[in-house]
Amino acid sequence: QPAQETGTQVKKTICPFCAVGCSIWAEVQNGVWIGQEPAFESPINLGTHCAKGAATRELAIGERRLKYPTKLENGKWVRVSWEQAIEEIGDRLLEIRETKGPDSVYWLGSAKFSNEMAYLHRKFAALWGSNNTDHQARICHSTTVAGVANTYGYGAMTNTFNDIHNSKSIFLLGGNPAEAHPVSMQHLLRAKENGARFIVVDPRFTRTAAHADEYVRIRPGTDVAFLWGVLNYILEQGWEDVEYIKQRVFGFEDIRKEVANYPLDVVADITGIPEDQIRRVAAIVARNRPGTLIWCMGLTQSTIGNNKTRAASIFQLALGNIGKSGGGANIFRGHDNVQGATDLGVVCDNLPGYYGLSEDAWKHWARVWDLPYEWVRDRFASKELMERKGMPVSRWFDGVLEAADNIQQPNPLSAMIFWGHAPNSQTRGPDLKKGLEKLDLLVIVDPVPTVSAVMGERTDGVYLLPAGSTMECAGSVTNSNRSLQWREKVVDPLFEAKSDYEIARLFAEKLGFADQLLKHIGVENGEPVAEDILREINRGMWTIGYTGQSPERLKLHMQNQELFHPTTLMGMSGPVKGEYYGLPWPCWGTPEMKHPGTPILYDQSKSVAEGGLPFRARWGVERDGKSLLAEDSYPKGSPIRDGYPEMTVAVLDQLGYLGELTPREQLVMASIGMGSYHPALLEASDGEARQLLSRMDEPEQPQAEATAEAMVENRVRRQFPDMSAKAQTAIAAYLAHKKEEKRDEGSAKQ
Ligand code: SF4
Repeated sequence: QPAQETGTQVKKTICPFCAVGCSIWAEVQNGVWIGQEPAFESPINLGTHCAKGAATRELAIGERRLKYPTKLENGKWVRVSWEQAIEEIGDRLLEIRETKGPDSVYWLGSAKFSNEMAYLHRKFAALWGSNNTDHQARICHSTTVAGVANTYGYGAMTNTFNDIHNSKSIFLLGGNPAEAHPVSMQHLLRAKENGARFIVVDPRFTRTAAHADEYVRIRPGTDVAFLWGVLNYILEQGWEDVEYIKQRVFGFEDIRKEVANYPLDVVADITGIPEDQIRRVAAIVARNRPGTLIWCMGLTQSTIGNNKTRAASIFQLALGNIGKSGGGANIFRGHDNVQGATDLGVVCDNLPGYYGLSEDAWKHWARVWDLPYEWVRDRFASKELMERKGMPVSRWFDGVLEAADNIQQPNPLSAMIFWGHAPNSQTRGPDLKKGLEKLDLLVIVDPVPTVSAVMGERTDGVYLLPAGSTMECAGSVTNSNRSLQWREKVVDPLFEAKSDYEIARLFAEKLGFADQLLKHIGVENGEPVAEDILREINRGMWTIGYTGQSPERLKLHMQNQELFHPTTLMGMSGPVKGEYYGLPWPCWGTPEMKHPGTPILYDQSKSVAEGGLPFRARWGVERDGKSLLAEDSYPKGSPIRDGYPEMTVAVLDQLGYLGELTPREQLVMASIGMGSYHPALLEASDGEARQLLSRMDEPEQPQAEATAEAMVENRVRRQFPDMSAKAQTAIAAYLAHKKEEKRDEGSAKQ
């Protein structure tokens, strides 16, 4: 029977089980979710979803759902009302804040949040006055970010699932997509049908390995030696992409020296992989390009995870595989919104958009929130703590046990709010248990009771608050390939559950900062409006291009009413043969400018001299007990590390140029000062540029170092031919000034 006759509503949502981001059509009758189908039209789905996706409805109607708030009192779980729970918890939190300071409370967030909730949660923690927040990314792919961001610029998967169809070889390390990301496996198999050679490296022979042309059984933990051994052999044979390396890879000579320490016999001893097989792997990846390198948590969850992901990232540079369709470092992330929750700053060391925690970063977000910076600062125990990273989730219990010397916690941690996070998968279980027992207050906000509630042997001071599932609120999610997709609310929260948005509002009201938290965010039926939150995100997230994906655009896109052939629109990054879905960041400019998103990162269609992106292959290792990766951090010129327009404007002022430039020229200058430029702005008409200027605080796009000269030649002469001579001189003067500063810094170090 047709849906309209039965009163059935059909809503489009996104599977909550993994980061592939398959779409689902959900059928709802009289507020009850009665059925579901894969969204056949989504190119990500490839006409299907997996067994996990097929169980999405079960998540919402499962019998394990928490039905009402409860608290543990004298060893018994007692039903309480929401009013009582918020009142009691709030009073206790305020008491802790008064006596021990805001950092004595930890607001643990979740990769199950929508982007809007992730952002609201980070803002909430900031307005409470603490950087003690984090989520699952810390214990899954944070090492990936260290690898790819240090080498290329962004901490994310470079290409799309659909683009893998164009790969000539697939080199998979530490992943088992046939079970963990089943629909992604269909994309790999599509590539195989197209002729791709498939290598699987894993200590276990998995269901994925069963499809491999070459299965490599590796001794656990020896991935760096293996990658270096393969690379060493490639270099010995002269199979590297010489021109690509010469053009764009800085520091590659260091790599040559490093990998020379890994001859085949040594590598075979370390890894347990026969020399012949290492040669075969090298030949496959070298002869079948462009090829993709894929990794998952088999690579990242390790004490040397950073080094492994850095080695993998550099490996792809040697073969010239980054910035190309069919190539890429394609990292399959775990939770459905682990990418988005990281981008939106549910981490202890960053604000939304990877702005860091410096005073400039806080000023930027205070401006977006329309709050005085001083007011936000005074919420923290001190400015020093405001700019210092909080405790990572992997070590929060050290903050309770006071066991770690380098956890600089002013007071012991007294309260933990586990909001959509259970600690089952963490290491150091006994310490974790002790930590849970020692807390004054433990609050669990979740659709289901989790192990956190019972792991410590407590008799009171624990609250279980029922949250709606991801299917019971609206918002966007960012899948593994950076695509934002809108998830419609399918049904109202079941039983007495409330959406995360509403719970955040209730707490903020009780704790006294709801007006500030929701200053430009409407509230409907008790819930902060997700669309308004995304509009606020659009206003502030210039660093990685979360500016063009308005709620209206995302909704149209999910209804297939805003589809376009990507290569026909401006700002496209590199050639794209496959389709993609959603709006992958960076999606520059204002929503009205309709940037199509960037399915493939790192434009290689131009040489560096013409504005193409360079990479950094300098190898970082532990030396004298110190991680050079950490010291190296992000490339110079990256907004993550370097930049805010204020800095550029201050330099321009100092040089006497500021008054001479038009606002548009200043904006372009600011973006150059950050080692980047704003492609949308350059393409924009004057009207659009004015619109951009009125809405943007920051330009974006991290870039690697050593591009200053290329920028002078390229950006000034070619890309800004319409700028005044004065502005061109200002750019040159500015860059010369920065170069001088850099030289001074270098000689000071020597
Ligand atoms: Fe859901 Fe992932 Fe399966 Fe797709 S592959 S249906 S997103 S669990």
